Amino acid sequence: MTATTEAQKISFKDGKIIVPNKVILPFIEGDGTGPDITRAARKVLDAAIRIVYKGEKEINWLEVLAGEKAYNSTKSWLPAETLEKIREYKVAIKGPLTTPTGSGIRSLNVALRQIFDLYACVRPIKHFEGVPTPTKHPELVDLVIFRENTEDVYSGIEFKPGSDEAVKLIAFLKELKQDVREGSGVGIKPISEFGSKRLVRKAIEYAMKNKKPSVTLVHKGNIMKYTEGAFCEWGYEVADKEFPDYIVTEKDIREKYNGKIPEGKIVFKDRIADNMFQQLLIRPGEYSIIATTNLNGDYLSDACAAQVGGLGIAPGANMGDEIAIFEATHGTAPKYANLDKVNPGSMILSGVMMFDYFGWEKASQLILEAIAKTIKQKKVTYDLERQMTGAMLLKTSEFADAIIENMK
Ligand code: NAP
Repeated sequence: MTATTEAQKISFKDGKIIVPNKVILPFIEGDGTGPDITRAARKVLDAAIRIVYKGEKEINWLEVLAGEKAYNSTKSWLPAETLEKIREYKVAIKGPLTTPTGSGIRSLNVALRQIFDLYACVRPIKHFEGVPTPTKHPELVDLVIFRENTEDVYSGIEFKPGSDEAVKLIAFLKELKQDVREGSGVGIKPISEFGSKRLVRKAIEYAMKNKKPSVTLVHKGNIMKYTEGAFCEWGYEVADKEFPDYIVTEKDIREKYNGKIPEGKIVFKDRIADNMFQQLLIRPGEYSIIATTNLNGDYLSDACAAQVGGLGIAPGANMGDEIAIFEATHGTAPKYANLDKVNPGSMILSGVMMFDYFGWEKASQLILEAIAKTIKQKKVTYDLERQMTGAMLLKTSEFADAIIENMK
């Protein structure tokens, strides 16, 4: 773990990120295909910075260990030193990690989210021309999903059918006049005001910073009034009380503005989750930023990614108030490990998200344009090649080189 002396740490002042020109960036290579895609992504990200900033900016890569590589050398899946470095340097990028079996760790990704309170899972979803998709107008999809990461049914509070805890809980629910069938497994779905508000706040701030036209709350409040319904109410409260100058609700557009959106305002709306699935298929162009609870967001993220061509090129980030971890959203695909075969797009695009977060948008733009050009030239990895006619099959490293060539 070395970093050159002149490179510096990211810091925060009054809630705003300060990124030094030469920034120290911890990275987790990842398991399975992780080393292949991380190598390719680093090469593309470094090249973009070199071309755009001509030596003024630079990433000082600092490897930190997690997953199998960490276990093999330290006997810990998630060493304390890795956690210390991420806490110290604030931003990290990671490849996919194997979920260790029988280690007592549910998932390393979940562990990282919990340890650093990374409460927003952020997933941008946009189509690249030429990527085969199952939908007719994938070009209309331009979304960023903010999914609450710490609550809801994923908070992990559940009890095995027949266990002492489940039996006790069922008896207690009976006292509350709620009848649960004997022998049921029982899970708890907590949704708090604090958790909901900070997630919606982050989504609105993102919409403001990136000049997005709307924020939509997605919930199942018609059925689960005190969890999903409360999420929606708290969301409107944040919009009304904290962002009144920037936000306009659909109701106000109808009742106060004669059906016309006042200039420069972000439209704030809500949709019931089941309706949202069909809306996103039929009229995706009407949605931009989505803020939602954990389980809704889980389904929506992958469904939307499928609409634009699948998970192979879908990036993501888990973000807290200061710490953020950018990552490939797919898994380790172990059968392809070290074959220099898989698509590094997801990892490269998570780097693009990270550059946007740094305020290095010129580098992001250059990479996005180069990826689009490379795909249009039909120079792609196996996952896209098998669905395209007349495409040139490239290895992971060759795809990275083709992108770099298109940046020059
Ligand atoms: P997976 O690794 O995502 O692989 C499923 C399939 O997706 C692959 O067989 C491959 O499809 C395709 N795929 C994945 N990565 C690709 C890439 N870069 N380029 C092109 N195609 C790609 O899912 P899994 O097999 O269910 O999980 C394997 C391991 O990863 C498990 O240990 C799981 O826990 C872990 N995991 C980690 C993360 C994470 O760290 N964020 C996320 C999910 C899963 P084809 O077979 O059709 O070629």
